[in-house]
Amino acid sequence: MSEKSTRSVIIIGAGIAGLSAGCYARMNGYRTQIFEMHTLPGGLCTSWRRKGYTIDGCIHWLVGSSPTSPFYPFWEEVGAVQGKEFLYAEDYFRYETGDGRTIRFPTDLDALEAHWLEFAPEDAGPIREFVAAARRLLSFGQPLEKPPELYGPMDGLRMARQMMPYMGLLRRWSALSIADFAARLKNDALRDMLLRAWYPEFSLFFLLLTLAWLHKREAGYPLGGSLAFARSIETRYRDLGGEITYGARVRRILVRDDRAVGVELEDGSQHFADAVISAADGYTTIFRMLEGRYVDDRIRRLYEMPLFPPLVCVALGVRRTFEDVPHLVVGLDIPLKRPVSIIGREERRLQVHLYSFDPTLAPPGRTVVVVLFNTDYDDWRRLYETREQYRAEKERIADQVIAALDDRFPGLSAQVEMVDVATPVTYERYTGNWRGSFEGWLLTPQNAQVQVPRTLPGLRNFYMAGHWTMPGGGLPTALLTARWAVQVMCRRDGRPFTAIKG
Ligand SMILES: Cc1cc2nc3c(=O)[nH]c(=O)nc-3n(C[C@H](O)[C@H](O)[C@H](O)COP(=O)(O)OP(=O)(O)OC[C@H]3O[C@@H](n4cnc5c(N)ncnc54)[C@H](O)[C@@H]3O)c2cc1C
Repeated sequence: MSEKSTRSVIIIGAGIAGLSAGCYARMNGYRTQIFEMHTLPGGLCTSWRRKGYTIDGCIHWLVGSSPTSPFYPFWEEVGAVQGKEFLYAEDYFRYETGDGRTIRFPTDLDALEAHWLEFAPEDAGPIREFVAAARRLLSFGQPLEKPPELYGPMDGLRMARQMMPYMGLLRRWSALSIADFAARLKNDALRDMLLRAWYPEFSLFFLLLTLAWLHKREAGYPLGGSLAFARSIETRYRDLGGEITYGARVRRILVRDDRAVGVELEDGSQHFADAVISAADGYTTIFRMLEGRYVDDRIRRLYEMPLFPPLVCVALGVRRTFEDVPHLVVGLDIPLKRPVSIIGREERRLQVHLYSFDPTLAPPGRTVVVVLFNTDYDDWRRLYETREQYRAEKERIADQVIAALDDRFPGLSAQVEMVDVATPVTYERYTGNWRGSFEGWLLTPQNAQVQVPRTLPGLRNFYMAGHWTMPGGGLPTALLTARWAVQVMCRRDGRPFTAIKG
């Protein structure tokens, strides 16, 4: 690689955003050094081994997994998709009622419409509207090539022309949450199923957009799981000549004359560069690493918006297969005979994700089973103060989940070989995410249009990337905001931005 100059950049965090920022910075001739506090790349996009099983901690669907998607070329640039096999499930999820019926949520919109109309003919009106809106979004695409802050008048015009045909649809459906729409359904089971599809407060527009991507088979699961996916980007970064240090937690961002000049690590060592990109948690970056010195009311208000709730993740390795349950994007939603209690909060249903579709995760004849629950951060933080109680609660939850699954899959409890429970404290400890949130800010009708700045007021040579720079979060956001941060940095450094496929 021919260096355009010797300007250097330090990147905080080797999650998907940090690794991607590293790739783009290298493509543009910057010397790069990533500091990552964990011993692995990926951040939240990870997997972990327990007793011969691999628990996948992230990807259910990767937007941009197929060459037909406008996101695909960006994933190619960071070397994430080349040579990977993606799996596409027939159903997003399945919902079992208490009286032995199953409602399917097919990823194919024609199949979805036919099945729901058969299940709930009394809701024909809203079902047809819902599916028609998702069908209209099959051709929806927004300009992704550069960040809004770099738009010139021609970009603005192009954007307006591209969005014009969808304005009515956007106005109508983005004002609604999933709960608003579900309230229109007469069929109780269908209504409850929709409320379990994603968070009830979530923007309906973005659910419809996701369904359009799933229908087009542009949002698949990468065989081999999330850590393997993250490692592909790490390989691309290293091949581009980037450097990375693991086990290196950044304590402070060093600032001189209102310019970011480097970082100080937990071990007290200081490292200097011409610019700093933080791809770590937004709250920690702004209010701890920079001690809240570069904030305005707009930034303070961002950190009052609702978050994706943190999770309890119960993973089991079981000595059995599940031939009767197909690959589902998020899992099988089942009613419970006895509720499961998570620090005093009762759950009457659970969504079980059976990873039979990925044979790389378990030995033959065995399966990884994962159940995720939304939970409360503060309760777990308090409990963590007394480790014995914390451990006991994790064990109690696992026992209840195993018993509940045994009711649905008789004999399962005797086949459990591995149990692993992660809590919001686990997510926070391993990835630094504020209040254990797994995707940043929840995408609601109220905050869907909120623009999060990639720079901070009054601070030069500093940029931010990752899921805390766009409500809704997710892997494509991590990738795009990293690309955008490097584009802004190149513009400020007076150099053209270049991106090349891996
Ligand atoms: C269970 C689950 C399922 C998910 N499913 C999907 C899905 O199907 N599709 C999808 O698109 N998204 C999904 N997501 C969300 C997705 O994983 C995240 O939005 C995305 O990985 C965020 O990437 P990031 O790089 O912005 O942040 P992170 O992954 O949080 O990376 C931040 C990195 O910074 C490091 N760091 C933090 N503080 C410091 C410090 N002080 N010093 C050094 N390093 C530091 C962290 O260790 C971490 O490696 C899921 C997440 C979870 C947990």
